[in-house]
Amino acid sequence: MTPRLRIRIAPLALVLSALLVSACDAPTVARPMAAYSPTSLTNGQLYRWSSGSTIRVWHIQPADSTRDVFRATQLALAEWNAVPRLREYRLESATSLERANIVIVDRSTPLPLAPAASCPFDPRGSTGYTYFCVSGNRAQRLQSSSGAPTDVSVIIRLDVGGMASQAVLEAVVLHEMGHALGIGGHSPETADVMFGNPTARFLSGRDVQTLQFLLGERPQFTL
Ligand SMILES: [Zn+2]
Repeated sequence: MTPRLRIRIAPLALVLSALLVSACDAPTVARPMAAYSPTSLTNGQLYRWSSGSTIRVWHIQPADSTRDVFRATQLALAEWNAVPRLREYRLESATSLERANIVIVDRSTPLPLAPAASCPFDPRGSTGYTYFCVSGNRAQRLQSSSGAPTDVSVIIRLDVGGMASQAVLEAVVLHEMGHALGIGGHSPETADVMFGNPTARFLSGRDVQTLQFLLGERPQFTL
C-alpha cells in the first residue's frame, strides 16, 4: 500500500491560484531547482507554511503497539529541521493537541479531531495519509472531536499495525512529514524519502533540494 496524500481544494482556491500563479517571491539567496515535482499530486498547486512559522507537532502513541511513534516523530523533526537556511520554518513538539499544527495519529486511535465538513476524512486504509482541507488560500483549522477550536490544520494518519518494522514506521512518518511541509508530489527515486513507497530514513540531497526550492516559491495556499 502506497502512502497517499489527500487534499481537497475548494473552487475558490482554484480561482485565486489562477491569479497568483505568475507571482514569485524575490529570494535573497540562490535556490536549487526541485529534483522532482513538488506539485504532481496537487494539480500544480504549490503549498507550504508561511515563512517564519513555528510548526508544532503532536503525536499520539497507539495504545497496543510496540512501535515507537514518538521516536519516529523526533527523527522526522530533526531531519526536516536541517533543511531551512533562512528560518523559513521550525518544527518542534507541541505541548498539547489543541496547540499543535500537525497531529500524528494511528488509525486504531479514535480521531481526536473533526474533519472539516467540506472535506470528509478518507476511511480507506493506507500506510500513511496526510490530510488537510483548503478553503480560500489557507488550510482550515480543525475543531477537536468535542467541538473546541484548535490550531491543527494537518493530520497525518498512520497504519502502524500494517508496518513490518520500526524502520518502516520511521520512513513513513518522515515521508508524510514531507507532504505536511509542502511537498505535494512523489519522487521516482527509491533512495528519496518522498519515493511513493518509502524506505529511506534520511533525507537525500534531492529531498532537501526540492523542499528548499519550494520554500522560495510563492504558494497558492498556506497550511
Ligand atoms: Zn506520499
